[in-house]
Amino acid sequence: MVLVINCGSSSLKFAVMDMAAQRPVLSGLADRLGLDEAVISFTHNGERVSHALPHPDHRAAMQALIDYLQAQGLMARIAAVGHRVVHGGEAFKASSLIDANVMAEIETCVRLAPLHNPAHLIGIRHALEFFPDLPQVAAFDTAFHQTMPEHAYLYAVPMELYREHGVRRYGFHGSSYRFALREAARILAKPAAELNLVCAHLGNGASVAAIRAGQSVDTSMGLTPLEGLVMGTRSGDIDPGLFSHLADDMDMSVQQTTAMLNQQSGLLGLSELSSDCRELEQAQAEGHAGARRALEKFCYQLAKHIAGQLVAAGKIDALIFTGGIGENSAWVRQRSIEWLAPLGFALDLAANQLCTRGQGGFIHAEGRVPVLVIHANEEWMIALDTAQLAHIS
Ligand code: AMP
Repeated sequence: MVLVINCGSSSLKFAVMDMAAQRPVLSGLADRLGLDEAVISFTHNGERVSHALPHPDHRAAMQALIDYLQAQGLMARIAAVGHRVVHGGEAFKASSLIDANVMAEIETCVRLAPLHNPAHLIGIRHALEFFPDLPQVAAFDTAFHQTMPEHAYLYAVPMELYREHGVRRYGFHGSSYRFALREAARILAKPAAELNLVCAHLGNGASVAAIRAGQSVDTSMGLTPLEGLVMGTRSGDIDPGLFSHLADDMDMSVQQTTAMLNQQSGLLGLSELSSDCRELEQAQAEGHAGARRALEKFCYQLAKHIAGQLVAAGKIDALIFTGGIGENSAWVRQRSIEWLAPLGFALDLAANQLCTRGQGGFIHAEGRVPVLVIHANEEWMIALDTAQLAHIS
């Protein structure tokens, strides 16, 4: 079995994957770490239990996980640990077995992901302490996009910024895209290396990627996960002139504007109600103007980015929707595909309605560009990489 860990600044997500049975046996989340009311919850055998943590920190969360694994007789069956790491810079083109060099490289990438990588390092250090004898693997969100050509990853800024400071587009959600590619190959009965796809990962964070001959050739996120689509609380594409405008007009610092673009923008900023797509759909149905405005902008921006990624992907075998919104929101899929009608896209509306709550499948109208809904499973992809690198079955 493989333990998959996704350690954030105030959370620790985990799953234990049974590789032989190809399913999770346990999953859970320690949340609100750093606050007094930190809790940990476990979903196991169809039941969910949760309790408060004695100390609201990552170490206590990891200890509570170990205690639970021991109590359930699972501890001895864990053969390797896989860690999600957001930023691997240009150093990592694939998942890697963790050693001192890999730790140092992840540390180097802290400057590219100051919110994420420090938390991943905390998670890895605790896991090395609690599982000193097990192989541990880092799976990077950026690694899949390292195949992007120069014209896709460069910004049109002085080259020195790229050469000296690593300023370029990296892209994220790589484990989700790799899983979607794998699933698409299975469903379309075509080798992954021969597939051209445009894939939209739509969750709280959202991006679109172009895959040509099984490799990432462009994606909507850039140096950081802020670029591209409208997201739950992130603005997506913005004119960088906004920074000096707000500094002049409102005396806002670079840090304040950056925080606003990351935490108070996107669906939340536009709707003035919520960052949650499901909530906004309900509010829209009840006539909430802000919810309607936010969802319209979300779908319009998504359609424009999908159209842009078609340039990179070429003639596609399928357009894929995945992630919490991509898998569940028939409304978002329908509205964004309506914008794409001039490019040959049309949905089978009944099939589209059926794809929700884990139900995937084809949703395009007969004779049109294939559109496929795939249930995202980044943890499984991380577990597969971990099992492979650790040579366990
Ligand atoms: P994720 O980050 O992948 O967990 O996705 C979270 C997003 O998926 C949130 O905006 C949710 O509101 C959205 N979502 C989940 N279920 C539904 C649903 N049935 N309809 C619309 N959006 C949904």
